[in-house]
Amino acid sequence: MNAPLPADFATHEVSNQVPRLENWNLYAGDPALREAVARDGAGEADAWLLARGAELGSAEMIAQGEAANRVPPLLRLFDAGGRRRDEVEFHPAYHELMAYLKRHGASAGPWAEPGRGAHVRRAAFIMMYAQVDAGTMCPTTMTYAVVPSITRDPALAAEWLPRIYSRDYDPRFLPAGQKRGVTLGMGMTEKQGGSDVRANTTRAEPLGNREYRIVGHKWFFSAPMCDAFLILAQAPGGLSCFFLPRFTPDGGINGIRIQRLKDKLGDKSNASSEVEFAGARAWLVGEEGRGIPIILEMGTWCRLDCALGTAGLIRGAVAQAVHHAHHRAAFGRQLADQPLMRNVLADLALEAEAATALALRLARAFDSDADVSESLLRRLLTPAAKYWICKRGPGVGAEAMEVLGGNGYVEDGPLARIYRQMPLNSIWEGSGNVMCLDVLRAIGRDARCVDALAAELAPAFGRNAAFDAFASRLTGDLARPALAEGESRRLTQRIALAVQGALLVRFAPEPVAEAFCASRLAGSDFSGGAFGNLPGNVDLAAIIARARPA
Ligand SMILES: Cc1cc2nc3c(=O)[nH]c(=O)nc-3n(C[C@H](O)[C@H](O)[C@H](O)COP(=O)(O)OP(=O)(O)OC[C@H]3O[C@@H](n4cnc5c(N)ncnc54)[C@H](O)[C@@H]3O)c2cc1C
Repeated sequence: MNAPLPADFATHEVSNQVPRLENWNLYAGDPALREAVARDGAGEADAWLLARGAELGSAEMIAQGEAANRVPPLLRLFDAGGRRRDEVEFHPAYHELMAYLKRHGASAGPWAEPGRGAHVRRAAFIMMYAQVDAGTMCPTTMTYAVVPSITRDPALAAEWLPRIYSRDYDPRFLPAGQKRGVTLGMGMTEKQGGSDVRANTTRAEPLGNREYRIVGHKWFFSAPMCDAFLILAQAPGGLSCFFLPRFTPDGGINGIRIQRLKDKLGDKSNASSEVEFAGARAWLVGEEGRGIPIILEMGTWCRLDCALGTAGLIRGAVAQAVHHAHHRAAFGRQLADQPLMRNVLADLALEAEAATALALRLARAFDSDADVSESLLRRLLTPAAKYWICKRGPGVGAEAMEVLGGNGYVEDGPLARIYRQMPLNSIWEGSGNVMCLDVLRAIGRDARCVDALAAELAPAFGRNAAFDAFASRLTGDLARPALAEGESRRLTQRIALAVQGALLVRFAPEPVAEAFCASRLAGSDFSGGAFGNLPGNVDLAAIIARARPA
């Protein structure tokens, strides 16, 4: 038994500390997301998403996300007898989370069970899941994104798609044929360059029958415990795409040598590695010399998830901030009642509204790819949305953290982890500048992208003068014959803001739309500076109430 405390033992009442935000429904409590799902074609998934929202907001799920990040993965290069294994060990919570994602179709649901709104439904799920853990999203996204590329190769598709589509997560380190389900990754980035993949030096020597021997390295190779990877390597006919399984067909461990795991700023639950290929066996996908378009198709689907993941993180950060401000008092009043804090909260909430609307609209374009206009819009909007949503993420993370004061900066709460995660989606799978150059490329290759954008903006005209002026200027500028590379960040930002504005003007409550247009579209180009600069006539109360987790 503990001895009683001495009478003069310093003790105190704990007061004014905020209850953890848990056991709430991430879907029911996010009207911006729920409304976007309905208008973007996945309204039939409402009950399904409500069930996921409750699970993802539960204390148990939040604890699993924390545990998977507190204990990072461990590289086990050798077995006890000194034989090479190249295995990565994860905390059990990581496996639980991966199983959850697989079970609910995050890695292949829309492919295995296609239908109206299938990608939007998954997109909403991903946005909520990102608030629990981002690291497990990495192999999940890559597995989802690889399907269109693999589908192009009938032999690969026949062998691998059933295992990719499986709802079973099977983490055992075994040949894929012995497993109930698989995950896939990708390897492009080398030491000498990631954005410019044409600089890849990894070599592929033909062995006959589309089989090659791969010698070289990859500098970033995430989720190395995946069962197979699409990689780029130089074949005799030029840079080509290869399918590289962890095990060779005879059941031996393939020559993928993990050198070390990256010591990253965030993304702690996920293993990202450096690897060397020591004569690994791989199979050509497509034709020699045509590797970039094939792997970029995978990259395009990853970019959608970058936008979705960061939109989810933004919503998570804003929910935490709004929740905190309603439970914490300073100078005799709740933070949420302090005029200046209300301005900050409402401004953050606008960012979550806009990111959610844009990310889900983008997902709809992926759902409706058979429609030419949607396909053109998707081509332009994918890099623009990835660029702008991911660029806004770190700023939102920092400001939301500051709403929590010192508690925001420590690892007891989620804000520190969200903040450290934020920059990654901006860097990965095409960094900011590369996205902006891709916007120019899209317009240069097919000017009908601009028509598709104009068609997307048209129904929003006539409701808000600031939007009308902003969108007219943009479409006018896009019609100019030569768009300057050095100004393509500004142009890309304006495209994303215009689509966000159009969506909010058409579909969001008036206070949200008015405040967004007044703060982001009116006057000279939005500088994206500090939050909390909304003009005085904005209905802060309505915006904050809508963003409050309930
Ligand atoms: C945690 C993590 C996981 C990753 N996982 C993987 C993975 O699984 N597989 C994989 O293949 N890669 C992976 N990557 C690598 C990532 O995709 C690259 O880091 C990224 O593409 C940038 O390449 P780089 O690092 O070589 O930078 P660089 O290509 O050197 O670019 C540096 C900067 O220059 C800019 N830049 C490049 N070209 C131009 C230009 N023409 N004009 C103006 N600016 C330009 C870029 O935007 C960037 O800001 C991962 C990265 C991280 C951080």
